[in-house]
Amino acid sequence: MGKQEDFVLRALEERDVRFVRLWFTDVLGFLKSVAIAPAELESAFGEGIGFDGSAIEGFARVQESDMLAKPDPSTFQILPWRGEGPSTARMFCDIMMPDGSPSYADPRHVLKRTLAKAADKGFSFYTHPEIEFYLFKDSPEAGVEPRPVDSSGYFDHTAQSSGADFRREAITMLESMGISVEFSHHEAGPGQQEIDLRYADALTTADNIMTFRTVIREVALGQGVWASFMPKPFTQHPGSGMHTHLSLFEGDRNAFFEAGSQYQLSTTGRHFIAGILTHAAEITAVTNQWVNSYKRLIGGGEAPTYISWGHNNRSAMIRVPMYKPGKGQSTRIELRSLDAACNPYLAFAVTLAAGMKGIEEGYELPREAEDDVWSLTERERRSLGIQSLPRTLFEAINIAESSELLAETLGEHVFDFFLRNKRAEWDAYRGEVSAFERDQMLPVI
Ligand code: GLN
Ligand code: MG
Ligand code: MG
Ligand code: MG
Repeated sequence: MGKQEDFVLRALEERDVRFVRLWFTDVLGFLKSVAIAPAELESAFGEGIGFDGSAIEGFARVQESDMLAKPDPSTFQILPWRGEGPSTARMFCDIMMPDGSPSYADPRHVLKRTLAKAADKGFSFYTHPEIEFYLFKDSPEAGVEPRPVDSSGYFDHTAQSSGADFRREAITMLESMGISVEFSHHEAGPGQQEIDLRYADALTTADNIMTFRTVIREVALGQGVWASFMPKPFTQHPGSGMHTHLSLFEGDRNAFFEAGSQYQLSTTGRHFIAGILTHAAEITAVTNQWVNSYKRLIGGGEAPTYISWGHNNRSAMIRVPMYKPGKGQSTRIELRSLDAACNPYLAFAVTLAAGMKGIEEGYELPREAEDDVWSLTERERRSLGIQSLPRTLFEAINIAESSELLAETLGEHVFDFFLRNKRAEWDAYRGEVSAFERDQMLPVI
């Protein structure tokens, strides 16, 4: 038993923990949880806790269903919403095959493997997500348009604001679980909120996003409202994205920083951006994984539509934020396509893989987009070499299917499952007759 395991076993007694929840994530990014008695924890740390992998979305075929969940002691936290007194704790798990090898279906492993590859080249990957979501008055009811909790807008400060009360409780809870919050504010849509997490290594951030989504939904239920990370709940209001700031470190040194160069951006940084741009269309099925994700990437609302980069240009897919001279360590890039309904482990893995490919192959960075890319004509965009992101999940899947980068990063099993699952989603969707069609057609034909 290592030091961290010992620490956890001691904490169980000191904090009067009665239940330990073991958390892991399925391929589509949904949180799974099994509660064990504290007495079981020692053996969980040793050989892991067995479960039926075939019952988890994307994990295994029935004939190879036995899997083991092994808790990662560094992720031990008490769940604050379970109240005082005897408490409940949680740890994220790594999923193992019966022979102890890592499960090929575990998204956390997919990210770890990709991080290890970057580490072989001397790089560690840091992320800082800006997570947006809507708060609604009621829990969802089929066919009924949701009602936002308020009618405020971007940065609005209103008296007795339910959004501000919500953010205060949510942030307090996140911080009590060791998740630091940097900014929070009302977003542009009615009832829409944003909370930005402090940057951390990508594995920690992905774990934090899983916790974040759970905390936000718990706090919402506690306050009698409903929270959703759906990328585009309303036609007429902006969608919810998860812009993410990315940086690479080589030891203590920010590998994106070079004093005196344009935007303080190093050659490594330029190659990394070029990698993401070159492979953007291939990885979009993962970074924006739902039919609904593409209704956010439609133009306007500050969500990107075109594969481009720019400095302080909010129509670009990648933005190199304003830099503060003398603050080289904070040099970073902001990827604006992601939405918060992704599987964060897989989304970070494919983004890193694309960026690393750019570094390995020395991709040239195309010219930056200086204009508002949305206001250009199709022809002007073409002459600038600016391509569109996939416009639908269908387009995204078709491009993803022939991507070597994606197959290699996700591994064969996750890649196959993912594409099969997404095709099924698209097929179910394309047969659905919508209110839009009826409203357009019934009156006239
Ligand atoms: N809601 C926008 C999006 O979906 C982002 C708005 C902003 O943070 N400036 O990407
Ligand atoms: Mg923001
Ligand atoms: Mg925002
Ligand atoms: Mg942003």
